[in-house]
Amino acid sequence: METFTRQAQLPTELLRQIVLEYVSTYDEGRKFEEPRHSYKPPWSSVEPLTLASKVLRQLALEAWFEVYYVRTPDDLLHAWPEFELWTKELHCVELGTDLRILPVQWDFRAFHRLRKLRIDFDPMQSNAMLLMRFDHPRHIASQIQELEIYDISWPSPMAIHLIADAFPRLRTLKLSQDLMWCNLCNICRFSTFRDHPPEEITYDKSVGLPSHYATYLRPLIKLEDVVLTVGYGLGGSYSLSENNGILWTGECDACMDMMFSVGDFRQDWVEKKKTMMRPPSLKTVKWRFRYKNVLDVVVDLDEDEDEVAQTADESDAGNLTIPGSDE
Ligand SMILES: [Zn+2]
Repeated sequence: METFTRQAQLPTELLRQIVLEYVSTYDEGRKFEEPRHSYKPPWSSVEPLTLASKVLRQLALEAWFEVYYVRTPDDLLHAWPEFELWTKELHCVELGTDLRILPVQWDFRAFHRLRKLRIDFDPMQSNAMLLMRFDHPRHIASQIQELEIYDISWPSPMAIHLIADAFPRLRTLKLSQDLMWCNLCNICRFSTFRDHPPEEITYDKSVGLPSHYATYLRPLIKLEDVVLTVGYGLGGSYSLSENNGILWTGECDACMDMMFSVGDFRQDWVEKKKTMMRPPSLKTVKWRFRYKNVLDVVVDLDEDEDEVAQTADESDAGNLTIPGSDE
Protein backbone atom coordinates (compact mmCIF):
# COMPACT_ATOMS: atom_id res chain seq x y z
CA MET A 1 0.00 0.00 0.00
CA GLU A 2 2.83 2.32 0.87
CA THR A 3 4.46 1.55 -2.50
CA PHE A 4 1.23 2.28 -4.35
CA THR A 5 0.78 5.63 -2.58
CA ARG A 6 4.30 6.68 -3.42
CA GLN A 7 3.85 5.79 -7.09
CA ALA A 8 0.53 7.58 -7.29
CA GLN A 9 2.11 10.87 -6.22
CA LEU A 10 3.23 13.04 -9.08
CA PRO A 11 6.68 14.58 -8.89
CA THR A 12 6.63 18.24 -7.91
CA GLU A 13 8.29 19.18 -11.19
CA LEU A 14 5.43 17.63 -13.16
CA LEU A 15 2.83 19.22 -10.91
CA ARG A 16 4.51 22.57 -11.51
CA GLN A 17 4.13 22.13 -15.26
CA ILE A 18 0.46 21.17 -14.89
CA VAL A 19 -0.28 24.19 -12.71
CA LEU A 20 1.59 26.54 -15.08
CA GLU A 21 -0.35 25.06 -17.98
CA TYR A 22 -3.62 25.57 -16.14
CA VAL A 23 -2.86 29.21 -15.33
CA SER A 24 -1.63 29.91 -18.86
CA THR A 25 -4.95 28.75 -20.36
CA TYR A 26 -6.18 32.18 -19.34
CA ASP A 27 -3.77 33.75 -21.85
CA GLU A 28 -6.63 33.60 -24.34
CA GLY A 29 -8.16 36.41 -22.30
CA ARG A 30 -5.32 38.69 -23.31
CA LYS A 31 -6.86 39.08 -26.76
CA PHE A 32 -9.68 41.05 -25.17
CA GLU A 33 -7.67 42.81 -22.53
CA GLU A 34 -8.20 46.46 -21.72
CA PRO A 35 -5.33 48.83 -21.02
CA ARG A 36 -4.96 49.70 -17.34
CA HIS A 37 -6.67 46.46 -16.28
CA SER A 38 -4.95 43.31 -15.11
CA TYR A 39 -4.78 40.50 -17.67
CA LYS A 40 -3.94 37.88 -15.04
CA PRO A 41 -6.33 34.99 -14.44
CA PRO A 42 -8.90 35.85 -11.78
CA TRP A 43 -7.85 34.88 -8.25
CA SER A 44 -11.05 32.86 -7.94
CA SER A 45 -9.70 30.46 -10.57
CA VAL A 46 -6.47 29.84 -8.67
CA GLU A 47 -7.62 29.98 -5.05
CA PRO A 48 -9.05 26.39 -4.94
CA LEU A 49 -5.61 25.06 -5.83
CA THR A 50 -4.06 26.94 -2.93
CA LEU A 51 -6.43 25.13 -0.56
CA ALA A 52 -5.85 21.61 -1.89
CA SER A 53 -2.44 20.86 -0.39
CA LYS A 54 0.71 22.53 0.82
CA VAL A 55 2.59 21.66 -2.37
CA LEU A 56 -0.21 22.84 -4.65
CA ARG A 57 -0.53 26.05 -2.67
CA GLN A 58 3.13 26.79 -3.27
CA LEU A 59 2.93 25.97 -6.98
CA ALA A 60 -0.30 27.89 -7.52
CA LEU A 61 1.05 31.04 -5.87
CA GLU A 62 4.25 30.70 -7.85
CA ALA A 63 2.32 30.46 -11.12
CA TRP A 64 -0.12 33.25 -10.30
CA PHE A 65 2.60 35.69 -9.31
CA GLU A 66 4.65 35.01 -12.41
CA VAL A 67 2.91 38.20 -13.54
CA TYR A 68 2.65 40.92 -10.90
CA TYR A 69 0.13 43.73 -11.48
CA VAL A 70 0.87 47.01 -9.70
CA ARG A 71 -0.70 50.45 -9.71
CA THR A 72 1.82 52.46 -7.70
CA PRO A 73 5.59 52.33 -7.06
CA ASP A 74 4.74 51.53 -3.41
CA ASP A 75 3.26 48.19 -4.49
CA LEU A 76 6.75 47.10 -5.57
CA LEU A 77 8.27 47.94 -2.22
CA HIS A 78 5.76 45.74 -0.39
CA ALA A 79 6.29 42.66 -2.56
CA TRP A 80 6.79 39.32 -0.79
CA PRO A 81 10.40 38.08 -0.66
CA GLU A 82 9.40 35.09 -2.83
CA PHE A 83 8.66 37.41 -5.74
CA GLU A 84 12.37 37.58 -6.36
CA LEU A 85 12.07 34.02 -7.66
CA TRP A 86 8.49 33.93 -8.91
CA THR A 87 7.86 37.13 -10.85
CA LYS A 88 9.04 37.25 -14.45
CA GLU A 89 6.63 39.90 -15.72
CA LEU A 90 5.67 43.23 -14.18
CA HIS A 91 2.54 45.05 -15.31
CA CYS A 92 2.69 48.66 -14.11
CA VAL A 93 -0.12 51.18 -14.44
CA GLU A 94 1.20 54.73 -14.38
CA LEU A 95 -1.51 57.38 -14.45
CA GLY A 96 0.73 60.38 -13.75
CA THR A 97 1.92 63.18 -15.98
CA ASP A 98 5.41 64.21 -16.98
CA LEU A 99 4.40 67.83 -16.50
CA ARG A 100 4.97 67.10 -12.81
CA ILE A 101 7.37 64.18 -12.39
CA LEU A 102 7.51 62.88 -8.84
CA PRO A 103 10.99 62.02 -7.52
CA VAL A 104 9.90 58.41 -7.02
CA GLN A 105 11.22 55.59 -9.17
CA TRP A 106 9.44 52.35 -9.95
CA ASP A 107 11.96 50.23 -8.05
CA PHE A 108 12.55 46.73 -9.47
CA ARG A 109 15.01 45.79 -6.71
CA ALA A 110 12.90 42.84 -5.50
CA PHE A 111 12.52 41.26 -8.96
CA HIS A 112 15.72 39.53 -9.97
CA ARG A 113 14.09 37.26 -12.55
CA LEU A 114 12.26 39.97 -14.43
CA ARG A 115 12.01 39.27 -18.16
CA LYS A 116 9.08 41.39 -19.29
CA LEU A 117 7.83 44.84 -18.38
CA ARG A 118 4.48 46.21 -19.43
CA ILE A 119 3.61 49.84 -18.76
CA ASP A 120 0.11 51.27 -19.22
CA PHE A 121 -0.05 55.06 -19.32
CA ASP A 122 -3.06 57.35 -19.11
CA PRO A 123 -3.78 58.55 -22.68
CA MET A 124 -5.28 61.77 -21.26
CA GLN A 125 -1.92 62.80 -19.79
CA SER A 126 1.35 63.95 -21.30
CA ASN A 127 3.50 61.03 -20.18
CA ALA A 128 6.42 60.09 -22.47
CA MET A 129 9.11 61.43 -20.16
CA LEU A 130 7.80 59.25 -17.31
CA LEU A 131 9.70 56.43 -19.01
CA MET A 132 12.70 57.73 -17.12
CA ARG A 133 11.17 56.33 -13.91
CA PHE A 134 11.32 52.71 -15.06
CA ASP A 135 15.02 51.90 -15.22
CA HIS A 136 15.92 51.38 -11.57
CA PRO A 137 18.06 49.57 -10.65
CA ARG A 138 19.96 49.45 -13.92
CA HIS A 139 21.19 45.86 -13.60
CA ILE A 140 17.60 44.58 -13.44
CA ALA A 141 16.22 46.94 -16.12
CA SER A 142 19.02 45.83 -18.39
CA GLN A 143 17.99 42.16 -18.19
CA ILE A 144 14.43 42.83 -19.41
CA GLN A 145 13.86 41.18 -22.78
CA GLU A 146 10.35 42.31 -23.65
CA LEU A 147 8.83 45.75 -23.22
CA GLU A 148 5.21 46.57 -23.98
CA ILE A 149 3.87 50.11 -23.59
CA TYR A 150 0.28 51.26 -23.94
CA ASP A 151 -0.82 54.81 -24.64
CA ILE A 152 2.39 56.72 -24.63
CA SER A 153 1.19 60.24 -25.39
CA TRP A 154 3.95 61.29 -27.72
CA PRO A 155 5.70 58.35 -29.45
CA SER A 156 8.55 60.47 -30.79
CA PRO A 157 12.18 59.40 -31.34
CA MET A 158 12.93 60.94 -27.93
CA ALA A 159 10.79 58.26 -26.27
CA ILE A 160 12.50 55.59 -28.36
CA HIS A 161 15.86 56.95 -27.23
CA LEU A 162 14.79 56.67 -23.57
CA ILE A 163 13.68 53.07 -24.15
CA ALA A 164 16.92 52.05 -25.88
CA ASP A 165 18.96 53.65 -23.13
CA ALA A 166 17.07 52.02 -20.24
CA PHE A 167 16.59 48.51 -21.68
CA PRO A 168 19.70 47.54 -23.67
CA ARG A 169 18.89 43.80 -23.93
CA LEU A 170 15.40 44.05 -25.39
CA ARG A 171 14.41 41.34 -27.85
CA THR A 172 10.82 42.47 -28.32
CA LEU A 173 9.35 45.96 -28.26
CA LYS A 174 5.61 46.62 -28.50
CA LEU A 175 4.06 50.08 -28.58
CA SER A 176 0.32 50.69 -28.75
CA GLN A 177 -1.22 54.16 -28.89
CA ASP A 178 -3.41 56.42 -31.00
CA LEU A 179 -0.74 58.61 -32.60
CA MET A 180 2.23 57.77 -34.77
CA TRP A 181 5.42 59.59 -35.56
CA CYS A 182 5.50 60.99 -39.12
CA ASN A 183 9.05 61.02 -40.38
CA LEU A 184 8.23 63.62 -43.03
CA CYS A 185 6.92 66.45 -40.85
CA ASN A 186 8.42 65.14 -37.57
CA ILE A 187 5.16 65.44 -35.70
CA CYS A 188 3.11 62.77 -33.97
CA ARG A 189 -0.13 62.48 -35.92
CA PHE A 190 -3.33 60.51 -36.04
CA SER A 191 -3.23 58.34 -39.17
CA THR A 192 -6.04 58.50 -41.69
CA PHE A 193 -6.51 56.33 -44.78
CA ARG A 194 -8.94 56.15 -47.70
CA ASP A 195 -10.30 52.83 -46.48
CA HIS A 196 -9.68 50.35 -43.70
CA PRO A 197 -6.10 49.05 -43.71
CA PRO A 198 -5.39 45.34 -43.20
CA GLU A 199 -5.34 44.23 -39.58
CA GLU A 200 -1.61 43.79 -39.77
CA ILE A 201 1.27 44.66 -42.07
CA THR A 202 4.49 42.71 -41.56
CA TYR A 203 7.88 43.85 -42.76
CA ASP A 204 10.59 41.22 -42.77
CA LYS A 205 12.69 42.12 -45.77
CA SER A 206 12.69 45.90 -45.24
CA VAL A 207 13.20 47.78 -42.01
CA GLY A 208 9.58 48.87 -41.54
CA LEU A 209 10.38 51.57 -38.98
CA PRO A 210 10.36 55.36 -39.19
CA SER A 211 14.02 56.16 -39.85
CA HIS A 212 14.57 57.95 -36.53
CA TYR A 213 13.17 54.90 -34.74
CA ALA A 214 15.63 52.68 -36.61
CA THR A 215 18.48 55.01 -35.65
CA TYR A 216 17.67 55.09 -31.94
CA LEU A 217 16.94 51.36 -31.75
CA ARG A 218 20.22 50.39 -33.43
CA PRO A 219 22.13 50.12 -30.11
CA LEU A 220 19.72 47.32 -29.13
CA ILE A 221 21.81 44.54 -30.60
CA LYS A 222 19.43 41.76 -29.49
CA LEU A 223 16.21 43.39 -30.72
CA GLU A 224 14.37 40.96 -33.00
CA ASP A 225 10.72 42.00 -33.11
CA VAL A 226 8.91 45.32 -33.03
CA VAL A 227 5.12 45.56 -32.96
CA LEU A 228 3.54 48.99 -33.46
CA THR A 229 -0.21 49.26 -32.91
CA VAL A 230 -1.72 52.60 -33.94
CA GLY A 231 -5.14 54.18 -34.12
CA TYR A 232 -6.53 55.23 -37.49
CA GLY A 233 -9.48 56.97 -39.03
CA LEU A 234 -11.01 57.21 -42.50
CA GLY A 235 -11.00 60.19 -44.86
CA GLY A 236 -7.36 60.08 -45.95
CA SER A 237 -6.06 59.92 -49.51
CA TYR A 238 -4.00 56.74 -49.37
CA SER A 239 -5.09 53.15 -49.15
CA LEU A 240 -3.04 50.36 -47.62
CA SER A 241 -5.68 47.73 -48.22
CA GLU A 242 -4.65 46.53 -51.69
CA ASN A 243 -0.93 47.07 -51.77
CA ASN A 244 1.67 48.92 -49.77
CA GLY A 245 3.97 50.23 -52.49
CA ILE A 246 5.07 53.13 -50.29
CA LEU A 247 6.20 50.75 -47.50
CA TRP A 248 4.16 52.87 -45.10
CA THR A 249 5.92 53.54 -41.82
CA GLY A 250 3.79 56.16 -40.12
CA GLU A 251 3.68 58.97 -42.68
CA CYS A 252 0.70 61.22 -42.06
CA ASP A 253 -1.94 61.73 -44.69
CA ALA A 254 -1.16 65.44 -45.14
CA CYS A 255 2.50 64.70 -45.94
CA MET A 256 1.70 61.83 -48.29
CA ASP A 257 -0.90 63.93 -50.06
CA MET A 258 1.41 66.92 -50.49
CA MET A 259 4.77 65.26 -51.13
CA PHE A 260 4.06 61.97 -52.90
CA SER A 261 2.17 63.50 -55.79
CA VAL A 262 5.00 65.64 -57.12
CA GLY A 263 8.16 64.66 -59.00
CA ASP A 264 10.31 61.72 -57.94
CA PHE A 265 10.02 62.35 -54.23
CA ARG A 266 7.87 59.31 -53.53
CA GLN A 267 10.23 56.96 -55.37
CA ASP A 268 13.29 58.45 -53.67
CA TRP A 269 11.63 58.18 -50.27
CA VAL A 270 10.76 54.52 -50.76
CA GLU A 271 14.26 53.73 -52.02
CA LYS A 272 15.71 55.41 -48.97
CA LYS A 273 13.61 53.13 -46.77
CA LYS A 274 14.96 50.04 -48.51
CA THR A 275 18.57 50.98 -47.80
CA MET A 276 18.07 52.19 -44.24
CA MET A 277 20.35 50.79 -41.49
CA ARG A 278 18.51 48.48 -39.14
CA PRO A 279 19.11 47.22 -35.60
CA PRO A 280 21.49 44.31 -36.24
CA SER A 281 19.25 41.43 -35.06
CA LEU A 282 15.92 42.83 -36.28
CA LYS A 283 13.75 40.16 -37.93
CA THR A 284 10.25 41.59 -38.21
CA VAL A 285 8.36 44.82 -37.73
CA LYS A 286 4.59 44.50 -37.48
CA TRP A 287 2.10 47.34 -37.77
CA ARG A 288 -1.35 46.73 -36.37
CA PHE A 289 -4.32 49.04 -36.78
CA ARG A 290 -7.31 49.81 -34.60
CA TYR A 291 -10.12 52.03 -35.82
CA LYS A 292 -10.77 55.13 -33.73
CA ASN A 293 -12.99 58.19 -33.99
CA VAL A 294 -10.70 61.18 -34.41
CA LEU A 295 -12.83 63.12 -31.91
CA ASP A 296 -11.72 60.68 -29.20
CA VAL A 297 -8.01 61.16 -29.87
CA VAL A 298 -6.08 63.30 -27.40
CA VAL A 299 -3.36 65.51 -28.95
CA ASP A 300 -1.07 67.62 -26.82
CA LEU A 301 -0.59 70.76 -28.90
CA ASP A 302 2.16 72.20 -26.68
CA GLU A 303 4.29 69.10 -27.18
CA ASP A 304 3.50 69.25 -30.84
CA GLU A 305 5.12 72.66 -31.17
CA ASP A 306 8.10 71.78 -28.96
CA GLU A 307 8.79 68.63 -30.91
CA VAL A 308 8.78 70.40 -34.24
CA ALA A 309 11.35 72.90 -32.98
CA GLN A 310 13.43 70.13 -31.40
CA THR A 311 13.71 67.90 -34.42
CA ALA A 312 13.43 70.17 -37.42
CA ASP A 313 17.19 70.27 -37.87
CA GLU A 314 17.61 66.50 -37.92
CA SER A 315 14.70 65.74 -40.19
CA ASP A 316 15.36 62.93 -42.66
CA ALA A 317 13.03 64.71 -45.02
CA GLY A 318 15.60 67.49 -45.05
CA ASN A 319 18.03 65.12 -46.78
CA LEU A 320 15.76 64.78 -49.75
CA THR A 321 14.37 67.34 -52.17
CA ILE A 322 10.90 68.04 -50.90
CA PRO A 323 8.45 69.31 -53.47
CA GLY A 324 7.54 72.87 -52.68
CA SER A 325 10.70 73.54 -50.65
CA ASP A 326 13.10 76.32 -51.62
CA GLU A 327 16.06 74.01 -52.14
ZN1 LIG B 1 3.58 64.28 -41.71
